[in-house]
Amino acid sequence: MKIAFLGATKMVTGSNFLVETKNTKFLIDCGMFQGSKAVNRLNYEPFKFNPSEIDFVILSHAHIDHSGRIPKLIKEGFKGKIYCTEATADLCSILLPDSGYIQEMETEEDNRKRMRAGEKLREPLYTVREAEESQRYFSPLLYNQKTELNPEVTLRFRDAGHILGSSIVELWIKEDDKVVKLVFSGDLGRRGRPILRDPSFVEEADYLLVESTYGDRLHPPSREDDKKLISIINTTARRGGNVVIPSFAVERAQDVIYELNKYYTEYLKTEEQDFLRVPVYVDSPLTASATEIFLRHPDCFDEETLKLIKEGNNPLDFPNLRFTKTVEESKELNTSKESKVIISANGMCTAGRIKHHLKHNLWRKESSIVFVGYQAEGTLGRRLIEGEKIVKIFGEEIRVKAEIHSLEGFSGHADQEGIMWWIKGFKPIPQKIFIVHGEAAAAEEICRKIKEELKVEAHLPELGETLIMEGEKIIVSERIRAVQRDREIEALEENIEKLKLTLWELLPKLEEETDKERGADSERINRLQNKLIELQKTLLELNMLLLEGAKEEG
Ligand SMILES: [Zn+2]
Repeated sequence: MKIAFLGATKMVTGSNFLVETKNTKFLIDCGMFQGSKAVNRLNYEPFKFNPSEIDFVILSHAHIDHSGRIPKLIKEGFKGKIYCTEATADLCSILLPDSGYIQEMETEEDNRKRMRAGEKLREPLYTVREAEESQRYFSPLLYNQKTELNPEVTLRFRDAGHILGSSIVELWIKEDDKVVKLVFSGDLGRRGRPILRDPSFVEEADYLLVESTYGDRLHPPSREDDKKLISIINTTARRGGNVVIPSFAVERAQDVIYELNKYYTEYLKTEEQDFLRVPVYVDSPLTASATEIFLRHPDCFDEETLKLIKEGNNPLDFPNLRFTKTVEESKELNTSKESKVIISANGMCTAGRIKHHLKHNLWRKESSIVFVGYQAEGTLGRRLIEGEKIVKIFGEEIRVKAEIHSLEGFSGHADQEGIMWWIKGFKPIPQKIFIVHGEAAAAEEICRKIKEELKVEAHLPELGETLIMEGEKIIVSERIRAVQRDREIEALEENIEKLKLTLWELLPKLEEETDKERGADSERINRLQNKLIELQKTLLELNMLLLEGAKEEG
């Protein structure tokens, strides 16, 4: 058996693994790369395999970084089935067309620029229509249903507790009368979060691929962050501002609605002192549709949520909750003076209505922005969390004055402790573990911890790396280093540009400052200049290496 790691290696997005056995070639996930420009560009690169030769796809869950390149796969010749849970298929029926819409819009914008520059126009990655058509390839299976896909491959989905329909993938692979078991964690949820069940344990595996999004972090207890959210809403409303919550349309938004429902219906009786009924707007048609899909799948809910439903309390609704539909309604949110909560997508602020709400609220010191989900490297969301003071939205510079909060307690991913807890559920512990779906620091940290604590082999695959499994032996067959290096170079170039911009802004400021301020700023400028030199040196070295590589190949 061979496994090629074609995405989500030392990063969280682009989940895509190619598994080859004697007679079968299949993919686990076919996700989109999301993040900096350099990372986004990876979506446009040709697949490292021929899509028409892929027998089937196994999809762990509906999030775009796991499903987002499925329409491209079909466009380029894939004809097989896509196996996933029923809820995943339902969610993909809205998420993929939405992604197609974003692709079309972005390409249109880009093409206008290209036209003016006299450059060749490009095609969208896929269109809304192509995304809609991909729906007929989906073939839903139940959780815990063991299915023989062909004489070589048997599949079973287990509940991953990460989003509605999310699964852990169990695979039995038969080669030469020997059965090997491969398990992919998918995205692992957290214990004790609302709506969904906790992640299931898996009993055994020969090879385990495990996610590591928060492999180097411990989340605060969810209860604390639930309370913090309410308190941010109440203080912000009292000073006349808005609370903007950028949220993934699936799961994070519903988790927030669930918590607010609890506050606005249950706590009303107990915490009347501090009670404000601030209107909550869900300004994302996608989130509204996703919420409807949630209500159609109570089979995925945990006991607590089922109990609420049985008592007649719809956990995803409360009296001051409103769903906006039209663009006009959305725009009105920014003209009305009333304080409100705005939940909008997308979660990493790279596209969608959320960008308008940020534009109208980031500059207001009375408003608050509350992040409740993971922000990938290079996204606007990540830059805000990291404290950038000036950001560009729709070509306009906005000075950030609003309060920025990040509530990790709402995270849908297991933290370091959660990942270790889940791996320890295997009896015995898998002897070969591969760490995927985490940025380098997080992946390296959990890799170290697994080796140290569990005394098993753990490996951190590179993008494009192929491993050949022969019984106990693992052979690294090839590493597509060039791709990795290209990505590093582009990321470096972007960082250098950013640094230069900051320096240009700081330098003229020195003239107007008092001596004390000048001292601190000069020091900062020195530091930035040194960092710039360092980055430029690394860039030069990388370029030299790339040149040498090209010479060797040529
Ligand atoms: Zn996910």
